[in-house]
Amino acid sequence: MRIVDIRERSVPISRYADPALPSGGLTTSIVAVVTDATRNGRPVIGYGFGSMGRFAQGGLIRERFAPRLLGATDLATADGGGLDPFRAWHAMMANEKAGGHGERCVAVGTLDMALWDAAAKLADLPLHRLLAERLPEAQPARRGLAAYAGGGYRYPADDLARLADEIRRLRDLGYASVKLKIGGVPLAQDLRRIEAALALLPADRLAVDAMNAYGPAESLAAADALAPHELRWFEDICDPLDFETHGAVAARYDGAIAAGEALFSEAEARLLHRHGGLRPARDILVFDPVHCYGLPGYLRILRALEAAGWPRAAFWPHGGHLCCQHLVAALGLGGVEVNALCFAPFGGLVDGAVPVDGQVLPPDAPGIGFEQKSALRALFATLF
Ligand code: MG
Repeated sequence: MRIVDIRERSVPISRYADPALPSGGLTTSIVAVVTDATRNGRPVIGYGFGSMGRFAQGGLIRERFAPRLLGATDLATADGGGLDPFRAWHAMMANEKAGGHGERCVAVGTLDMALWDAAAKLADLPLHRLLAERLPEAQPARRGLAAYAGGGYRYPADDLARLADEIRRLRDLGYASVKLKIGGVPLAQDLRRIEAALALLPADRLAVDAMNAYGPAESLAAADALAPHELRWFEDICDPLDFETHGAVAARYDGAIAAGEALFSEAEARLLHRHGGLRPARDILVFDPVHCYGLPGYLRILRALEAAGWPRAAFWPHGGHLCCQHLVAALGLGGVEVNALCFAPFGGLVDGAVPVDGQVLPPDAPGIGFEQKSALRALFATLF
């Protein structure tokens, strides 16, 4: 079992349903890995992308990780019948040095997603079922996955009216819980956004995400201002490595704190646990599996923090895309983000799928199910 071709391209992505609105020049990488196996006379191909929020990683993919993957001579499972993404991961990471994660973890995670898509297609299973069979850590969900809609980015004009429109649209689509963005503007302005949202949603269905914008003093001021609203959670408060401020907020803010989205390794996750003052019975962990070197890296974080006392219900992976739905389903994690109206065509559910009672189901097609989302299928087709 080998990878015989890898295609890669950078594409723009937008935080808004209207991609004409300026979105900070965000990009992501799309990749295809072509295996030497065939089904119905055609090569089995896995697709992946770099999740949202860390920009495309084409240089690292082209120069380091794709060549190593193409050079690996045997990526078969022990029984010889399938593709083993863990063997592929070790091939990609050969000679990488410890520490200095930078964003190479995103490049690796992008290819890792495509490898899992191909492995599940070769096994003729949806990815969550392949993971349930192969991972010792699997705890398959028996029901739909608890879901919330990510979004709520600040609009360049008519912000409050457009935010309210967005929340109404999400509610109409069946999302009972929403996360909106704060930070980077005066706190009073953000409190008006929160009040606009609370006119449409109960407080325990509204989370806020400061996108790591606050300094130490601002973090404490925001925590004090948010506390009376009793929101669902307060995410990405300050610099992800400022554990002192995390701890100071946790010491005075009774609501749930969400952290981990911008930490990419097991070592950093252990530091967050040890020094961030977080409370495993209450707080939320939003590590992005793609940004954490893919599933192998994410499993290391899961194992380390579970051993330190964190329940799986605390893990709500960042990303808002189909791949995370499979991981949450297979590992029995807390729930999923769904970027229903942003980051098209990567966010949201497959064509025609809707949340039911606030829950979603992962795609049931072999692989991750990208082919069931027509706009995404069309985008991946441009790689060939
Ligand atoms: Mg976040």
